[in-house]
Amino acid sequence: MDKKAKKKEGISRLMELAETKKAGLTAACMLSVLSSVFRIIPYFTIYSILRKMISCYSAGSRFTFGSVRTLVIVTAASAVLYGISAYASAMLSHGAAYDILYELRMKLMEKMGRISSGYYTSNTQGSIKKLLIEDVEQIEGFIAHSMSEVAAAIATPLMTIIVLFIVDWRLTLVSLLPIICSFIILAMALKKPDGAKHQKNMADCKAKMEGTIIEYIHGMSVIKIFGGTKNAFKRYETDMNAFTKSVHDTAYYNANGMGLYYAFFGAQVLFLLPAAVIMLNSASSYSEVLPKVLFFLVVCSGMKEPLENMMNVSIDSTKINVGMKRIDELLEEPEIALVGAGRSLTRFDIEFDEVSFAYPGSGINACDGVSFNLPQGSCNALVGPSGGGKSTIAQLLLHFYEVGSGSIKIGGVDIKEVTHAELVKNIAYVFQDAFIFNDTIENNIRMGNERASIEDVKAAARAANIADTIEALPDGYSTVVSDSTGLSGGEKQRIAIARAILKNAPIVVLDEATAYADAENEAKIQDAFSKLSKGKTVIMIAHRLKTIQNADNILVMDKGRLEAAGRHDALMESCVLYRDMVMANDRRDSWTMRKEIQHD
Ligand code: ADP
Repeated sequence: MDKKAKKKEGISRLMELAETKKAGLTAACMLSVLSSVFRIIPYFTIYSILRKMISCYSAGSRFTFGSVRTLVIVTAASAVLYGISAYASAMLSHGAAYDILYELRMKLMEKMGRISSGYYTSNTQGSIKKLLIEDVEQIEGFIAHSMSEVAAAIATPLMTIIVLFIVDWRLTLVSLLPIICSFIILAMALKKPDGAKHQKNMADCKAKMEGTIIEYIHGMSVIKIFGGTKNAFKRYETDMNAFTKSVHDTAYYNANGMGLYYAFFGAQVLFLLPAAVIMLNSASSYSEVLPKVLFFLVVCSGMKEPLENMMNVSIDSTKINVGMKRIDELLEEPEIALVGAGRSLTRFDIEFDEVSFAYPGSGINACDGVSFNLPQGSCNALVGPSGGGKSTIAQLLLHFYEVGSGSIKIGGVDIKEVTHAELVKNIAYVFQDAFIFNDTIENNIRMGNERASIEDVKAAARAANIADTIEALPDGYSTVVSDSTGLSGGEKQRIAIARAILKNAPIVVLDEATAYADAENEAKIQDAFSKLSKGKTVIMIAHRLKTIQNADNILVMDKGRLEAAGRHDALMESCVLYRDMVMANDRRDSWTMRKEIQHD
């Protein structure tokens, strides 16, 4: 049997993802190699000039510029060509980096739209942020700067060594000796048994500390309200100390190896000088040996930088490997499956048939063998105690998750056979905590229908009873929403309703807010809800039972099971849970009313 092709990693995986955009990068690398050729040529020409000068001097003849004119021209031309090719390489690699990043970010964004909503827990939010910002940016830095430097970093030392061999193989071997020793020392240091353990411990401590920082910042308002600053900071401090300790441990563990490595790496001149003295003492003519010695001293002291670049590139590329691994993990997350080619929806009755579902990792059914049939155009309410499974039903209808068993059909079509785009086109979902983007109010409402005119946007705002509030703002519909805009929860929900009205989808899912600021706000929202719901198949997650007494069908959910279903009057007779809830609601409402009268 054919084995699956080995998965690419690191840079080669990055190139695979970059697809069409890698041509620019290849050109940048080639130009970079070319620039390192032009960088080496002057060393050789200057050596030749030096040799001519010393031989003239020792022969007692006059040194003329004419004898080295060509060498000088080649030196100057190489310097200019080096500048041009290095500049062109940098320009191309930066352009390619942004192209590749664009492609990568688009791939990640598209993928994020296709995976289960269960992936977006508060735990993963931090790592998604890190992935999209830090990892992708690190890759950008690597492509823009390091990729073309990789080519130069490999080409420059190699070409320098070739030139050195041409000039004198003995001095070359002597100057390479400390470098070979330093590489052997480094390889031995890296192979030490606990090295990887220390590195991993350091990376784990760093990730833990970063996670705590993100959590600390996100939870700052809660921490402040509950006065837990000291406690929360303690965790951050503990994680920071653990990270510092891991860095120290790793540094001490590697100290001897790295110290020796650096000592040998910079010791070329120390090795060269005795060899040069021996060569000069045994040479028949100084003019033969002296230029070589001078040449080696100059070139070898300049070799350190390209060699160090080579090392840095290999360190950077290991960081890329980690980032690419995380990117691949996200790209490999299971997607919400589409069965078949994607069918379109023409009718809008909703049918749940023995649907069971447990949240990943929970093991308890949040929806347990639920069956119901909601006719097109009917108004339905989901009620029940908190945790009963009402929101889960709404999320399953939107195909945020895959059901464990059973099926969900809209107009007789299983939602598994409907594309995500077709599904969201036909369902308007008003969340309890309306999310308003940091954009103009006009654009926030227009999200419901990108092609809507400003007149349509205003009409939707009027229908949602929010037009007056918007027009009273200094910039009206052009107001960019931020915390300082001062919109209340009820106002935000009415903006979200305006968005849904503009969308004009045949199915409406409403998650009623649990608490309204005041009776006026409540009345406005109720009125906006009823305009939005007219003629639609509605599922309303209701928390205030008096608002749903006229619903066509009330579904009572408890512990994931459909406890009872029917109209208000029938349920008051037959369902104890419903009757208890209605009575508790009435008591709460009369208590609220008494409080309001006392305040007046
Ligand atoms: P309701 O909307 O009626 O308050 P939910 O549908 O939100 O109830 O929750 C039903 C059950 O599923 C509850 O036990 C709740 O704890 C659990 N649950 C809800 N969301 C998640 C989630 N994202 N991950 C794990 N369990 C969840």
